[in-house]
Amino acid sequence: MKERSLAILKPDCLEKKVQGKVIQHILDAGFEIKGMKLMQLTEDSAKKFYEVHKERPFYGELVAYMTSGPVIPICMEKENAVADFRKLIGATNPANADEGTIRKMYADSIERNIVHGSDSPENAKNEIAHFFNEKDLV
Ligand code: ADP
Ligand code: MG
Repeated sequence: MKERSLAILKPDCLEKKVQGKVIQHILDAGFEIKGMKLMQLTEDSAKKFYEVHKERPFYGELVAYMTSGPVIPICMEKENAVADFRKLIGATNPANADEGTIRKMYADSIERNIVHGSDSPENAKNEIAHFFNEKDLV
């Protein structure tokens, strides 16, 4: 059964101009892109998106980083999309990420780690709704 997940190409991805490469990895791994846009996150939107982390010591820096430049949210679909995308991006800290993963190839640090991926099908639904109206998905 097909499943959806949300990716966000983070500001460091666009700063490094590797968004094209990362999108190619997503397509090569068999994900279908159902929605994608280039946008600037507001502080309110970033705070809400990362609300689960609001008690963490890095929350303020995370919001500042995610609003430091444009991002590209992507709604993707494939079988087992959530788990397969987490595998494709690798561990949160690129130093611990497996060879061949997107974070290992392109990310600099545990914070500036290039890409977001939903961590459960239920969170994926809410995260997709944060950025996209169902009617705008192809
Ligand atoms: P993931 O993005 O792998 O699901 P988390 O949900 O734990 O990781 O954290 C959300 C984001 O917060 C990370 O992708 C990263 O940008 C940032 N982050 C996580 N842990 C740290 C940390 N210890 N220090 C600074 N930033 C962090
Ligand atoms: Mg997470």
